[in-house]
Amino acid sequence: MSEIKLSNRFYHGTKEELLGKIKNQLSDFRYKHILGVGQTCHELAKLNGVDPEQAMIAGFVHDYAKEKTDEQFIEKIKEKKLDSDLLNWGNSIWHGVVGAEFIKDELKITDEEILNAVRRHTVGAPEMTTLDQIVYVSDYVEPNRSFPDVEIARPLAYANLKQAVIFETKHTLQFLMSSSSKIYPDAILTYNAFVAEN
Ligand code: GDP
Ligand code: FE
Ligand code: FE
Repeated sequence: MSEIKLSNRFYHGTKEELLGKIKNQLSDFRYKHILGVGQTCHELAKLNGVDPEQAMIAGFVHDYAKEKTDEQFIEKIKEKKLDSDLLNWGNSIWHGVVGAEFIKDELKITDEEILNAVRRHTVGAPEMTTLDQIVYVSDYVEPNRSFPDVEIARPLAYANLKQAVIFETKHTLQFLMSSSSKIYPDAILTYNAFVAEN
């Protein structure tokens, strides 16, 4: 992947400049994760008729804001007048939905398809573009991920993207419920749209 050059269509700078800015914001562990997601997004984009550069950039930036402080997120929610219900949630939900605003403001990425894919990468949405699905699934199956279900999810991702979305959505909800976590309403909407039979 290191040989892939950017075109200037989505980011005004080189891949090395973009990755440098992202690396500055993240721990080594998470930086490795976003490289894996970017690579997986590139591969899944080629298989599903999506622009591979657009998908790779979305993968690189998807967790850009993950290590910002709660105070930074709260400030951004107020500054951008985002839905005040967001204040009832935390980093897990903020780093995608609010994270997109940091990506716009700090990395100057304005492509709405990339920003929406970041917004939807954690809980999905009832209607997801192919790019949204690629980022959602790549986050789950990138090469550094290791959990029992990934051995099922990874081959599924390459064989059938939508089936991988269904698998991930169902298993993430089961996991959250098994630990009595609060479920973000959009996660239920994603479940109803992709998993529920009727
Ligand atoms: P990561 O950023 O690469 O770790 O992956 P994600 O963005 O997919 O998930 C971030 C965290 O959000 C994980 O710990 C998920 O389990 C959690 N998460 C996903 N959906 C929900 C939800 O509906 N509610 C809550 N409370 N957490 C969620
Ligand atoms: Fe994330
Ligand atoms: Fe991630």
